[in-house]
Amino acid sequence: MHTSAIVNRLKPSETLAAAAKARELRAKGIDVLDFTLGEPDFITPEHIRRAAVAAMDAGHTHYTAATGIQELKQAVCNAFQRDYGVSWKPSEVTISNGAKHALHNVLVAVCEPGDEVIIPTPFWVSYSALVELVGAKPVLVETSEAEGFCLSPEKFRAACTPRTRLLMLNSPSNPTGVVYPVQALEALAHVAVEKNIIVLSDEIYDKLLYPGHAFRTFASFGDEVKQRTIIVNGVSKAYAMTGWRIGWTLAPENVSGAINRLQSQQTSNPCSVSQYAALAALNGPQQCVTEMCAEFARRRDYVVQRLRAVPGLTMPEPGGAFYAFFNVSRHFTKPLLNGPGVTNATDFCTALLERGHVALVSGDAFGAPGYVRMSFATSMDNLRRGLDAIEHFLA
Ligand code: PMP
Ligand code: GLU
Repeated sequence: MHTSAIVNRLKPSETLAAAAKARELRAKGIDVLDFTLGEPDFITPEHIRRAAVAAMDAGHTHYTAATGIQELKQAVCNAFQRDYGVSWKPSEVTISNGAKHALHNVLVAVCEPGDEVIIPTPFWVSYSALVELVGAKPVLVETSEAEGFCLSPEKFRAACTPRTRLLMLNSPSNPTGVVYPVQALEALAHVAVEKNIIVLSDEIYDKLLYPGHAFRTFASFGDEVKQRTIIVNGVSKAYAMTGWRIGWTLAPENVSGAINRLQSQQTSNPCSVSQYAALAALNGPQQCVTEMCAEFARRRDYVVQRLRAVPGLTMPEPGGAFYAFFNVSRHFTKPLLNGPGVTNATDFCTALLERGHVALVSGDAFGAPGYVRMSFATSMDNLRRGLDAIEHFLA
């Protein structure tokens, strides 16, 4: 049967593919230590689970408004106002099936075929694929570890052309863990206004920050900036709710109206029960977020200290999210664990999985050759065993 050219060009998500490969080896009885997927290992907090049960018992088992229940849209606005002092109206909110779906909605809603979308590297795997899916062109702009993996205003300005529609930003970042300093964000905001470019700010890791780092939403730099800003967020990471599939966009009314039309034809509403669970997450006690974040911080400290003690590895200190992103290129070409050497990060990950039984994601998936990503959203015991195995592999 025929499949379309646009999906034929689409690669499968490399993060999901790496996780599947680890699962495959495990099914063969091999004890694989898996650090591929960025998802909290915690079960969703109890009060949120209870709210879902109560919603089912109350009969919230039907279609809802296509773009989400009004209470949840209001809760998203209230939380934004409470946490960041910026106001949005419920009519500017669309509730979607996870943040990934929200990102796709935005690209469909604002991009014309042939438009250019600036994506600083390293970037989260799905960004470029989703841009290509709408017929737009990803323009990858490299940032280095020496630059703190932050896009500078100069590089942003230089990448702009008359076809540039959008800049995709992600701070705290997946895969680097880097949190943009306020001044760096503000400088990008000035360029966005000067060049009249929309900024799609993926703020999914806003609540997962480590001591010494502060979060600033891109919508907080005044009206001229907010008018050009679209925020994507959701409950997946902060509330350990990846499986519930609830994310959202905050966008000026004409864009949220476009997304609403799109979603009404495309998926109808996100899961009714999940929406009530997300409502409990946003309106309920926030202590669970603080506690999970404290545990991630403990793991981060451990992982950074262990990786930095390995000769030849370099990495930025993750200020947020739950990823360690480190450079392994000094270990290229030399023999690795009784086998031949490798010359790129993808082969490095394959060799580490096959010979060392540790699964990481190659930086090649994120537009960052020479690097690998390790998720530390897993138990201390797994981390200890995994880091022992990586050390052994490299020695
Ligand atoms: N953006 C980033 C940067 C992410 O890391 C993820 C997690 N996969 C998403 C969006 C998508 O989140 P969700 O699971 O809510 O679709
Ligand atoms: N955001 C997670 C990751 O980067 C989940 C996987 C995915 O959705 O691609 O690992």
